[in-house]
Amino acid sequence: MKYISTRGKYEGKVDAAYAIKCGLAEDGGLFMPTEIPTLSSDELQSLINKNYNERAAFIIGKFLTDYTYEELLEDAEGAYAKEKFGDFPAPVHKVDDSIHTLELWHGPTCAFKDMALQIMPRLFVRALRKTGESREALILVATSGDTGKAALEGYRDVSGTKIQVFYPTDGVSAVQKLQMQTQEGKNVSVKAIRGNFDDAQNGVKRIFADAKTEALLNEKNTFLSSANSINWGRLVPQIVYYVSAYLDMVSSGNIAFGEKIDVCVPTGNFGNIFACYIAKLMGLPVEKLVCASNVNNVLTEFLECGRYNKLRDFHATISPSMDILISSNLERLLYLVAGQKKTAEYMELLSSSGEYTVEKDIFERIKESFIGIYTDEAETKNTIKRIYENKNYLIDTHTAVAMSAAMRYISTYKAERKVLVVSTASPYKFAKDVFMSLEGKVFDFHDTEAPKMLSDLTGTEIPTPLSSVLAKKILHPDIIGREDMDNAVLDFVAD
Ligand SMILES: *Cc1c(COP(=O)(O)O)cnc(C)c1O
Repeated sequence: MKYISTRGKYEGKVDAAYAIKCGLAEDGGLFMPTEIPTLSSDELQSLINKNYNERAAFIIGKFLTDYTYEELLEDAEGAYAKEKFGDFPAPVHKVDDSIHTLELWHGPTCAFKDMALQIMPRLFVRALRKTGESREALILVATSGDTGKAALEGYRDVSGTKIQVFYPTDGVSAVQKLQMQTQEGKNVSVKAIRGNFDDAQNGVKRIFADAKTEALLNEKNTFLSSANSINWGRLVPQIVYYVSAYLDMVSSGNIAFGEKIDVCVPTGNFGNIFACYIAKLMGLPVEKLVCASNVNNVLTEFLECGRYNKLRDFHATISPSMDILISSNLERLLYLVAGQKKTAEYMELLSSSGEYTVEKDIFERIKESFIGIYTDEAETKNTIKRIYENKNYLIDTHTAVAMSAAMRYISTYKAERKVLVVSTASPYKFAKDVFMSLEGKVFDFHDTEAPKMLSDLTGTEIPTPLSSVLAKKILHPDIIGREDMDNAVLDFVAD
């Protein structure tokens, strides 16, 4: 399988290892395989009796043809080990006859990004070897919370790599801050920045673009790389759990083999839902993809009228991992339905004028598979309460956005297929907002007290990674100015 850039470069001459090592294509586009491999009905059937790791090695192997099945199985077994994910990395929960959830938060940081960030470092290290790279990689991450911690857990003690994370000191929750400040591992560095997320992000971008830093790092036999969601190595592991969930629904007798389902995904950067679209193109029996947004509903508007307009107010919501105005992975969908030339034009328009509108035929093709629905803050809170009281099931704020969208989808479209709602975070990761939603009012208490209060109220257990963080030693107390980020990078490499 060869790879190509969504904006034209490479003409299908590079391998998956190269795409994973580079992250972003040199023309600013994203890597995509030149064709979408198929998953035949026989192959799908043969995976029913396989475990998650075998399913992962098989599916990922269809895209990473320069990796062997044995390599991929070893990586999956390391990534989704029982000590990290328990017995089932991505279990399906039946909410009622029409709705199931796919729980993607049983990993070490209790959010769905673990599903990709546990295996990607392993794929990345192999990519270095396969491309003949002898330097060490320094992974730089700017984070507003979830990604930083998940990347730290994924790259900690992975040989041939170091990881450094920058977060805005007042821009993450108290629990998220503790998770990062207590991070263990020999190859990790965590720095708080005086500033907001954009300051951290711009600082990282500046370091990536700085030739002097690049030369200094090169002297230390080091090069920079990133772990963000546009890397193909993060996207491809996400295809696996859609296939796996479908098979589990067949095994449990909730659908017949071959029966179509609809999938509803709480969406930010469009990575997770796009992975489901690939699974559908491969042949997984999925009909509609419901793209659920919070009040940052740029994608809802796009899926209603074909116009993408990033020039709008940004809202900080209780589902912060979906507070995004530029959904980077949408570019991959545009590439598939409109081709490279059009995609490059749209992206040019987006950066020059802040918006683009796709042509009618392209819009119609997107509409065949996607429906956009958004949920406001009041409805999100209300959904958490209703689902807990009526279904005895506790969900986090992001999952609630999708749950509400799924229910609205079923009633509006009189949908008869089973709907799989993707659950992206443990309710304990956003315990304070979940607690207040259940109580129906605002309380003034500290973030770090919330997990215990939620546990007392609902009689459910705090996941170990979150309960243990309060007792852990702070290893990374530093707060630095944004102008000191370059030096922090060079100091870390000199260590
Ligand atoms: C990152 C994230 C999302 C959004 O996923 P995308 O792939 O960016 O669309 C949703 N929920 C949670 C909890 C997340 O961490």
